[in-house]
Amino acid sequence: MIIAIDGPAASGKGTLGKRLAHHYGYRHLDTGVIYRAVAKALLDIGADLTDEARAVAMALELDPEKFGDPVLKTQKVGEAASVVSAIPTVRAALVNFQRQFAEGPPGAVLDGRDIGTVICPNADVKIFVVADPKVRARRRTLEARARGEDADEALVLADILKRDERDQNRATAPLKAAADAHLLDNSHLDIEGGVRAAIDIIEAVRAGRQRV
Ligand code: C5P
Repeated sequence: MIIAIDGPAASGKGTLGKRLAHHYGYRHLDTGVIYRAVAKALLDIGADLTDEARAVAMALELDPEKFGDPVLKTQKVGEAASVVSAIPTVRAALVNFQRQFAEGPPGAVLDGRDIGTVICPNADVKIFVVADPKVRARRRTLEARARGEDADEALVLADILKRDERDQNRATAPLKAAADAHLLDNSHLDIEGGVRAAIDIIEAVRAGRQRV
């Protein structure tokens, strides 16, 4: 069983994907982390974020052991990840890694932007998570402050809008819901409520399949 979680609000503290994986006993991959890891590797060596050859080389050398690095979660790295992830060859270099993760027992939850559309178009359940950008800005600001970062909510909102715009309008694998995705708006839900709503969707899909 593969569960694809996409959408502008698919990630964040206590990620939905992580919670769902825990609930079902599946493996979890937050695919934003892999784009963030590539971006950080470029930032670390002072390379240009649009240096395609270097970015692809970094993408092919990813070390999952480093995915827990807290620096990956910062706004700066997130913004850089959005630039790097718009390079088609970088995305291509990361496809196999993600597909290999998705396949195999007991099942996997992947969250990102193009899981249901490009990486796992045959995912068993696809959920597209949205939330009011103002609500997301509030959440991200509180998360950043909890990490000890200085965060200005208005700037965070501007960053979110800019990033969504870039993610939605890039030529390769733009952020959009798959035709068979289920929409989940968590603007007015807390983490628990979002998890509950996602489980309800997954169970409804499973029940529907059993009836066929
Ligand atoms: O989800 P997260 O904020 O960690 O993602 C950081 C950036 O990585 C996104 O803004 C997006 O540009 C890119 N990304 C992507 N495809 C994914 C996951 C993330 O393009 N599957």
